[in-house]
Amino acid sequence: MQATEQSNETIQSVWKKRPLIISGPCSAETEEQVLATAQRLAATGKINMLRAGIWKPRTKPGMFEGIGAKGLPWLQQAKKLTGLPTTVEVATGKQVQDALTFDVDVLWIGARTTVNPFSVQEIADALRGVDVPVLIKNPINPDLELWSGAVERVARAGVKDIGLIHRGFSSYGNTEYRNAPMWHLAIDMKLKHPEMLLINDPSHICGRRDILLEVMQKAIDLDYDGLMIESHIDPDNAWSDAKQQVTPEVLNEMLEMIIWRKEDVNSEEYHAALEKLRQQINHLDDELMQVLSQRMKIAEQIGKFKKENNITILQTNRWNEIIERASAKGEKIGLSKEFITKYFDAVHMESINHQKKILDS
Ligand code: PEP
Ligand code: MN
Repeated sequence: MQATEQSNETIQSVWKKRPLIISGPCSAETEEQVLATAQRLAATGKINMLRAGIWKPRTKPGMFEGIGAKGLPWLQQAKKLTGLPTTVEVATGKQVQDALTFDVDVLWIGARTTVNPFSVQEIADALRGVDVPVLIKNPINPDLELWSGAVERVARAGVKDIGLIHRGFSSYGNTEYRNAPMWHLAIDMKLKHPEMLLINDPSHICGRRDILLEVMQKAIDLDYDGLMIESHIDPDNAWSDAKQQVTPEVLNEMLEMIIWRKEDVNSEEYHAALEKLRQQINHLDDELMQVLSQRMKIAEQIGKFKKENNITILQTNRWNEIIERASAKGEKIGLSKEFITKYFDAVHMESINHQKKILDS
């Protein structure tokens, strides 16, 4: 196979590419597998960085726990052949040192490590004085403070280029996804750290191939800066995460199918039309708030009534009736049951607070 020409791009210039596409096997298995994957990925011309797990944090003992430091020269070789910079997951200070010894360009902290402040601190300490970009995956539990805490520890060690990887959150029981995306959490994190690169990892969110493209497209629609996707020369026989990996060629096809969106466009016509629609939205939002305020005033009157008659605020039957009525109506006019439930929960809580004030007065 023909090696693509080695580029001399610095990691800083690769880091700034949009979309930034990172791909490679879940785990480095053999030298041949790493080199062949890297060459086939490079041949697509769409991949900016090669990933491979060297040390694998596995849920259960006895599963393949990674090839270890012995795989690092393979990545070095893959970089030499393809020009693709490399990234590996690190979970200890020793792993940071080993990875840097073998010229790994970007380090990433895995979801099972982000949850543990001791481990993150150990990694941060090993990074002091080293100018290497670091990607931090979301912790497995939906806790933004924990994710932010890890970012802060790494930033305090002096690391300037930090990126976030959204790989979904553990949830109990069977769902469509291996890890629930909970998109709003990643969006909140981006709002908290707007200067940081946000990458989506559809492989670990989906855990299967058939819905990868859908998740990739959603991330692009939401203005993510890039994607990290697992790929393997023989996905069905991968030593880890077999169900979610695709060949470099299938990945290439998927990347061709994605509709890439721009954040902005320099057209007056577009901006004028958008401005008009946004004004309509503002107007409707004002109306919604007026109506909500009226609703709260009525709730207060009910509160007064309940107080006079010494009745509890929460009336479960009435509440169920409101939700059922609203979901049925909402569905007919294009509002999802999930939204209606969340919306009425919030309205109900506010209503209870208003009534409680009356009862306490
Ligand atoms: C991985 O990227 O292969 C990996 C182990 O990911 P995560 O930390 O998201 O589970
Ligand atoms: Mn994996």
